[in-house]
Formats: sequence, structure tokens, C-alpha cells
Amino acid sequence: MPGAGDLVVAAPTLERDVNAAIVDASASLIVVLDRAGRIVRFNRACEEASGYAFAEVRGRVLWDVLIAPTEQEAARETFERGLAGEFARAHEDDWVRRDGGRRRIVWSNAAVLDAAGLPELIVGCGNDITERRQIELKLRESEERYALAMRGANDGLWDWDLKSDRLYLSARWKGMLGCGDAEIGESPDDWFARVHEEDLPRVRAAIAAHLSGATPHMEIEHRVRHRGGEWRWMLARGLAIRDAAGTPYRMAGSLTDITDRKSGEARLVREALLDSLTGLANRTLLCERIEHALERSRRDEALRFVVLFLDLDRFKIINDGLGHGVGDQLLCEFARRLTACVRPADTVARLGGDEFVILLEAVSDVADGARVATRIHALLRKPFELDGHEVFTTASIGIAPSSPKYRNVRDLLRDADSAMYRAKALGKSRHEMFDGAMNEQALEVLKLETDLRHAIERKEFLLHYQPIVSLADGSLRGFEALVRWRHPDRGMVSPAVFIPMMEETGLIVPLGTWVIGEACRQLRAWHGRFGRPLGMSVNVSGKQFAKGDLVAEVEAALRETEIPARCLTLEITESVMMVNAEESLRILCALRALGTGISVDDFGVGYSSLSQLHRFPIDALKIDRSFIQRIGGDERDAEIIRTIVTLAHNLKMGVTAEGIETPLQLERVRALGAEAGQGYLFAKPLAVADVEAMLVREADNAQTARLVG
Ligand code: C2E
Ligand code: MG
Ligand code: MG
Repeated sequence: MPGAGDLVVAAPTLERDVNAAIVDASASLIVVLDRAGRIVRFNRACEEASGYAFAEVRGRVLWDVLIAPTEQEAARETFERGLAGEFARAHEDDWVRRDGGRRRIVWSNAAVLDAAGLPELIVGCGNDITERRQIELKLRESEERYALAMRGANDGLWDWDLKSDRLYLSARWKGMLGCGDAEIGESPDDWFARVHEEDLPRVRAAIAAHLSGATPHMEIEHRVRHRGGEWRWMLARGLAIRDAAGTPYRMAGSLTDITDRKSGEARLVREALLDSLTGLANRTLLCERIEHALERSRRDEALRFVVLFLDLDRFKIINDGLGHGVGDQLLCEFARRLTACVRPADTVARLGGDEFVILLEAVSDVADGARVATRIHALLRKPFELDGHEVFTTASIGIAPSSPKYRNVRDLLRDADSAMYRAKALGKSRHEMFDGAMNEQALEVLKLETDLRHAIERKEFLLHYQPIVSLADGSLRGFEALVRWRHPDRGMVSPAVFIPMMEETGLIVPLGTWVIGEACRQLRAWHGRFGRPLGMSVNVSGKQFAKGDLVAEVEAALRETEIPARCLTLEITESVMMVNAEESLRILCALRALGTGISVDDFGVGYSSLSQLHRFPIDALKIDRSFIQRIGGDERDAEIIRTIVTLAHNLKMGVTAEGIETPLQLERVRALGAEAGQGYLFAKPLAVADVEAMLVREADNAQTARLVG
């Protein structure tokens, strides 16, 4: 509604038509009212805004027609104040259109035409600002929303005016860094100065990449210094706004504190790649590093490196004697000393137990390996103070320099390990360089030995089972468990090759323990599945007999598997038995007390003291296959077999013939009185699945026989 602002006197002399045309052509709303507020003139713009034709509203009071009922009174008062000369210069009205729609009109100019000093007509000039208002409203809403989001968001927000190079940072942004609003200024450097120097180049590159249009948005993880001095990990995201020419003029985004996630990630990485006890690299990380070193030296042979394989010499004694706690302390302290004697770029790793590996990279001379080894020996001369104990230890170190011959990490580690092993064999507390020029055969043995030492933990051993049959009726009595080594490269290795090696190194003791347990577990499974009282014979080595806690192990296996003790037979060679007859007697009696059977293996080839045999609690003699295989030749062999059988029977022992390969041999040993037999004629040592197939077949045949019978 028009109010009275500046007074303009209209020229009564103007041509009416021209006047009318101008008024109608105006984009502004022009309305003329009389003193009572009745509409005298209503231009085209008014018609459009209101939806009424001039003719429809002519003579009617403007607020009655056009203003919403609730606001009519206010409109009238405004009009009257205007007549009295008290109008505000501009004010707004809400018009209700003919079709019910609403328009927002702002009156910016008004004129009072007076006659004889009294206002006659009031001319108002206004504009329909409905659309503009709506946009403003939307804008305000969105601004409010933005402000609200900014205040409520957990993320900090930033807005960078690239033209003025001012950076607006939200209070939350600053708060995340422990700073108050006033503590950080408006320069981008206030941000960048707080970024970790290692991360800054990446941050700048990410921003530049996005500003240049190379990336659809900016996203980068970086560290910033918190007010308290510590580093926090942040995820910064941003998006540039560009002008019509594509030039960015503004960039804004968020900052999220991801420190917790990062420390979680770091913990996972630590767990995956670091040894939990010492914090050194673990095997995974070490292998990765060696792999890289190998790759680099393949590309450039001048980039040589050296691997040192270390093993503490008396660790087991310390660990068993002073307890695992002290053992762990020793490992940690040793790890610290090792780390101190190499460069930061070198890798010190713990493979497990007391085995450590050092990777020296970029060495100018492979003799560096020996120099570091010498340093390690020197720093072990100082005692370790552990829990009030003063402990001395030494290390055996094997050194393997890089060489183009290495195709993989495993070979390299194995050679270093072999060299370490040699250092141990040569008297410990020393180092040995792996010697690729060693004679081929010695090298093979050395490598095999090295592999053998890891075969148990790598689960490369398995058992095959050779049937033992009753010679009276050919029925199955049970099996002999025979160990097999599935070497990753060589395939099956014969026990004739590795058992002597294991005897020599003492590795046979843990292997033997595993064999007893495994054979018993397997037998229990077959007992359960096939319901037959089958027996199991297990070979026991001399070392196991002399050193290991054989009786306790057997007892534990029986307890665990709950197989009847009489189903388990231990095979011991006569020479083992006779080496320390008194000790053997004690052990055999203890085994007998458990209820297990005892057989003398390979009988006839050892140095036998037949006169002693009766003192031992023996159930059966296994005649060595060399005698069986000569059957058909020299008749004296048959005599020997007959003598053994007679001797055994006199001593109330049974006889098993080993290595029966032909029907003739079978005939003869049966005729000579052996009760049981074993050999290729019946079956070779079989894998578990083959044994089971055989047992299933036998069960089917038995059923058929019952049905037919
Ligand atoms: P052994 O205890 O005298 O086992 C019998 C060996 O004779 C087995 O050789 C078996 O495969 C083989 N054999 C069986 N029947 C015949 C045949 O008809 N002809 C021929 N030519 N050979 C036959 P294998 O499996 O190579 O084992 C060799 C030796 O290794 C075993 O002799 C035993 O002394 C030792 N051994 C095997 N497994 C173990 C084990 O778990 N612990 C220990 N300590 N020694 C084991
Ligand atoms: Mg045997
Ligand atoms: Mg034998």
C-alpha cells in the first residue's frame, strides 16, 4: 500500500493518454487511491500481481480487496498515518490474489496529490518482490543450515578464499587442535605450519592436483600438531569452486580427526609385522624386506646386502633354568643390543624362539657381515642383568651374502641358517660365512639338515602305515607306523636318509614324540570307525630311548587317545637295547607296566647278546628283512631263521618276519614257525586313505562271507 514519502506534485497539464500509457508500461506497480483508500487507478503491473482487472477493483478500498483479513486493520492504520505525513519510507504488504495466491509487494515511493492543502489522491509506486523474497528465504535457510551444520558437525570446516588468500576455519576446526577461536589466524599458513613436515609436501600436492583439475576432489590424510604438542591424524577433504573460465576461486571442505582409526591401523600393522615380545620385525616383515633387497640387487648387482642368522647358544638352559620370564627378558635385551649395533636402515628381526636375523642393506663389502658379527660377539661379552641374575650368553651366527643365484627368500635364509648351524657345530660363539663353494654333496647334506630342523614346525612329516598280518590265516593284526617327510622341493624323502640325520642332531626326540601321539590318534580313529582291535607298532630311536622321557610320552598318548595299552607296540633295535642294558631294562619294564607291547626290530643284524635277551620284557622279535630276502639261496640263512624262531619261542616271544616280498618267502617263514609277517607281498606302507579303503573292503568282504555262509 502506498505511503507518503517525498511529495511529488503531478503536473495536471500532462496529456492524459500519454500519462496512462506510461503508467501502464511501467514494470513497477502503480496505484492511485483517494482519501478513503479507494482505488482510483491500477496499472497493468498491479493487474498482473493481483489477478484483478482494474474494472473489478475500481472504487473499492484497497485493503478490503487485496490485503489478507488479518492484516487489513494494520494496512488501514499505515495508510492513515501516511495521510498525516508519518509514513515510513518503504514498507511491505502481502497481497492476496484473486486466485488466492500471495504476493509480496514493497512500496518504495509514494506521492500525495493535495488540493487546497488537503491530501486528495495518493500515488504509490511499488514492486512485486515475491520471487526475490523466496530466494532470500531459501538462502537464509540454507545459510542457517550451513551454520548449524558447522556448529554441530564433529568435523572442522574450512573455507579458503583463493583470491584474497584468506582461510576461514570453523571453531570446531580450531578446537580439534586444542586452540581457541582467536588463536589461529586467517592465513592458510596457519594451517600448513601445523602440518607434520613429512606430510606437508603430500598435502600441498593434493591441493594443487585438485586446483589444477587433475582430481575430482581433494582428500588427504595428514598429521597436525595439537596445541599440547602431540600429533593428531586428520582427514582433510575439499572441493574447489570455479568461475566460468574454470579457474578456482574458492575451496572449502572439512577436517576429520582420524587419530583413533590410525592408531588402530598402526596396531594392526604392528601385530601383523612386528614380533610381539621384542618389537622387532617378524618373519613376514623380514621376508618382505629381503624380497625387496633381492629385487633391487637383481636390477643393480652393485646393491649388495648381507643376511645374518643368529641363534643364542645357551638359551634353552637359561629359559628352563631361570624361567620363561627371565628368558623373555633376555630376548628383549638381546634385541635391544642387536638394534644398537646396526644402522637404522638395517632390519633386525626375530623369527621366533631364540632365532634372530639381521638384514644389512646397501653394503659396500660383504665383509661388513663379519664385522657386524664380530661386534655382536663383543657386545655379548657384557653380562645381562635379568631379575637379579647375571646371565652370560653367546650367539652362533651364520652369514649369507647376496648373490645372483638366489631366486627366493627361502633359499637365502636357509643358507644363512646352514652357516649358523655350522658355526654351532664348530664350537658356538662364532660366525661362519655360507660357503657356496663347499663340495656339492656336503652342501646338499647341509641344506637337507637345515630343512629338517624346520620340518616339524612346518608340519612336513606324515605317517604311512604298513599292515602286519597273521601268517596262520592271513588276517590283519595291525600296522607299523613309518614316518615320511614331504619336502617342499624334493617330494618324499626316505627315512633311510633323514632318520640318521635326525638321530645325529637329536631332532629325532621331538619327532618321535609326534610319531607316538599321531600313531595313537590314528589308531583310535580306526578303532572307532571299524570296530576292530587292531594294533599299532611305533619305532623308537636310540636317542629317544636314552634322552627323551619316553615312558611319560607313551603314557600321555595312551591317556589322551584312550586306546588300550596292549594295542600299542614299541619297536626298539637290539643294539639300542644293549648299549646301556641296565637303563634299557628299567625303561622297558616301565613300558611293560603300562601294558604296551615291545618288539625287537631288525633282529639278527645287530651285535646280539642272545644270552641277555631273556632278561628283557620282550613280546616279539622282528627278523630283519635281509634274512627273509635271502630265502631260496644259501640254506644257512634258513637255519638262522629257524634258530631265531626257536630261541624266541623258548623265551615265550613271538616272531614277525619283515620284508616278505614273494609267495616262496611267505611259505618258508610260515613253515619255519613265524606267527606274523610284513612285506610288500601283503602291502607297502600305505597312506591313511589307502588304509581306510582297505579296511572298508575287508569289512564288505566279511559281510558278504557272513551272508553267503
Ligand atoms: P623298519 O622299522 O625296519 O621298517 C621297515 C622298513 O622296511 C620300512 O622302510 C618299510 O617300508 C620297509 N619294508 C617293508 N616291507 C618291505 C619289503 O617287502 N621289501 C623291502 N625292500 N622293504 C620293505 P622305511 O619306511 O623306509 O623305514 C626305514 C626305517 O626307518 C625303519 O625300518 C625304521 O628303522 C626307520 N623309521 C621309520 N619310521 C620311523 C619312526 O617313526 N621313528 C623311528 N625312530 N624310526 C623310523
Ligand atoms: Mg620297525
Ligand atoms: Mg625293521
